[in-house]
Amino acid sequence: MSDDTTVCNVCKRREAFFFRSYSGMSLCKRCFTQSIEEKTRATIAKYQMFKFDDKIAVAVSGGKDSVSLLHVLAEVELRHPKAQLVAVTVDEGIKGYRDEALKIAAENCEELDVDHCVVSFRELFGYTFDQMVKRLKGEDYVKLTPCASCGVLRRKALNTAARKIGADKLATAHTLDDETQTILLNILHGDVLRIAKEKPVTDEVHPKLVRRIKPFCEIPERETALYAYVRGIRFQSAPCPYASEALRNDARMMLNRMEEKHPGIKFTIFKSIEKIRPAIEETARKEGLGECIECGEPTTDKICRTCQLLKYMK
Ligand code: SF4
Ligand code: ZN
Ligand code: ZN
Repeated sequence: MSDDTTVCNVCKRREAFFFRSYSGMSLCKRCFTQSIEEKTRATIAKYQMFKFDDKIAVAVSGGKDSVSLLHVLAEVELRHPKAQLVAVTVDEGIKGYRDEALKIAAENCEELDVDHCVVSFRELFGYTFDQMVKRLKGEDYVKLTPCASCGVLRRKALNTAARKIGADKLATAHTLDDETQTILLNILHGDVLRIAKEKPVTDEVHPKLVRRIKPFCEIPERETALYAYVRGIRFQSAPCPYASEALRNDARMMLNRMEEKHPGIKFTIFKSIEKIRPAIEETARKEGLGECIECGEPTTDKICRTCQLLKYMK
């Protein structure tokens, strides 16, 4: 190895390719991918996300986070022969976008020998998302952004699919970045009590709601992308044409700028919320914030606004 190369701090043999600023470690490709798998295992153990014989539905959209999660969980599963993985992909019916993602998700499942279940908005709700957007445009009733309504419909679709295949848990690929952005967004929207519900493992709310888990909640998004790149995993990189959550983009940029100047700040935000979540939950209970009986989303009504919207569509 020449003098200007950095040696990996873990194996002390191979050349480092990545500097993890929040831990001060330089890592080679092999030690980096192992570290992601170990960190995910540690998160799963810390929050007791799985039982040894769980059937786990993994939400795989085809993007970098979800395909990386599928590959990491396939590794984790090797040590748990009684556990079972099934990938679930939701086809929202977004022209020119979802078709490629579906193909990529299917390819990854085939490579890993994981069963793949596809559910569509059309078969579940009677309309593609493109049709819903067109139909509801201009309706006063709809004050939600496309992503907000699509997000709840996706959750519903994933839950229905997970329940249909008899899954005990539903794993989603929310990263540390998603979690911290959502915390900030809830504060910026004045919806701070929602933070109580955004947990790494959801509570048992209703027998029809499969418990959701987030094994990547302590992994920065940059590292899930790097994991996919290092392992040569194929993923879809084209953005969704409706992805225009302006405030989330601002929150992302702000957090990334802060992380650059103060490495580890996203972890600090995440851990701070973990500490005060019980107090937020208590306040939420007092204020009557419960879960929608249809989809499990936080709501002060029995049925949340999006589920009401869905009924309205029908
Ligand atoms: Fe749905 Fe928004 Fe995701 Fe597009 S980006 S699939 S509209 S949630
Ligand atoms: Zn190494
Ligand atoms: Zn609902």
